[in-house]
Amino acid sequence: MMQIYDSLAREKRLFVPGDPARVTIYVCGPTVYDHAHIGNFRAAVVFDLLFRLLRRRYGEKAVVYARNFTDIDDKIIKASQETGVPISEITAKYARIYDEELAAFNCLPPTLKPCATGHIAEMISLTERLVAMGCAYVADGHVLFSVGKFREYGRLSGADADERLAGARVEVAPYKENAADFVLWKPSTPDEPGWESPWGRGRPGWHLECSAMIEKALGETIDIHGGGQDLKFPHHENEIAQSSCAHGGAPLARYWAHNGFLNMGADKMSKSLGNVALPRDLLKKHHGETLRFALLSAHYRQPLEWTDDLIEQSKKQLDRFYRLFNEAPPTEIVEAPESVVLSLEDDMNTPEAIAGLHDLRDIAMQLNGEPKRRAAARLKAAGELMGFFANDPAAWFKWSPQGEGLSAEAIDAKLAERAAARKAKDFKTSDIIRDELAAQGVVIEDGPQGATWRRG
Ligand code: AMP
Ligand code: ZN
Repeated sequence: MMQIYDSLAREKRLFVPGDPARVTIYVCGPTVYDHAHIGNFRAAVVFDLLFRLLRRRYGEKAVVYARNFTDIDDKIIKASQETGVPISEITAKYARIYDEELAAFNCLPPTLKPCATGHIAEMISLTERLVAMGCAYVADGHVLFSVGKFREYGRLSGADADERLAGARVEVAPYKENAADFVLWKPSTPDEPGWESPWGRGRPGWHLECSAMIEKALGETIDIHGGGQDLKFPHHENEIAQSSCAHGGAPLARYWAHNGFLNMGADKMSKSLGNVALPRDLLKKHHGETLRFALLSAHYRQPLEWTDDLIEQSKKQLDRFYRLFNEAPPTEIVEAPESVVLSLEDDMNTPEAIAGLHDLRDIAMQLNGEPKRRAAARLKAAGELMGFFANDPAAWFKWSPQGEGLSAEAIDAKLAERAAARKAKDFKTSDIIRDELAAQGVVIEDGPQGATWRRG
């Protein structure tokens, strides 16, 4: 059975879905106006792992994973005004890039990718219901949620109301009955994007977007809601207030899962601090699997410091595993070993699971022949649970950073030249080619099927 740390209950709990034939998970996705940074990717990779574990346990068809694109937001409007590029062009571009980059991290596509712009009618309907129930009020063209109407407000984020307000710099506005009330709908000026609504032309607030998308895509109570820990307040607190009020007090999610921050030195990696590393740049220098390994090397609830050393160590560890697969290609398809499954199902304990991979490798290294290949197959199955080992070992060792070293085609051509020289018994030329390639960090290995190469 799986255990998940539930941020609302503040304890690790046995995971019991509402309906094992339809397990639902929602993760707040990116606001698509710029490139994501590797801190944003931590959430995406952590919840990709959870998606994989749920699929293994409940079946691929039974798990519905929705990750949204926030494509209405003041930051997007600003980006459009500054660049002159239409909003829809900006959002489509960055959504596409986000998906492409996550694919390089071997993240599975979510089952559903709802967009805020595709759910305006649902957002208006949800707001109308909240107003009709007296949980929201209309003031100065805005619709505001009245937090005093929701007794459980603050349960997720904990801290007392004043501290929350100070910490999140909640906007103080004259039309608010209570400073903590938050916007469901706000008016748009003629040059801002807007939609007709019972309260005039306007646009939704960010929190409302997720509540409406969840209701439409997954239902009133979902199994797991995920996101980074910075989203607990105000975003998730507000999602809970909106959804629970609209649904007669039904919980929005049975389990709340939050990942810790990715830090640069002592600070959280964030656009506003400017201390970001972008997957777009990192992927030019490092294999996506190396970066995925780095992100999963710490427990998802712990902070993780992003350093060059972390990336280098991740690459070294993966090299060790791929060397085994090169030596002893796994033949059969086997079940993942229970020890690694147990670690992962224990609140995604990836450090323990990775230690388990090293143990499996050490066992394999003591074997030979068929037993070694079987042990390698067990290791491969264990790593695949985490989205590792997706590459052919030869391709893994041939990969090189963009713009560095000889291309694979150039090396293949040199090898062909060398083979021709050897055939003609011109060993001098053959040796020169070997030395040339060695100087470029390319190692040739002669075998019964001819020569192969890898980057050393
Ligand atoms: P944002 O684009 O800032 O709304 O963030 C998108 C997702 O990335 C959210 O789930 C955030 O909690 C998460 N996130 C942003 N910065 C970090 C960070 N430095 N470490 C971990 N997660 C982050
Ligand atoms: Zn959300």
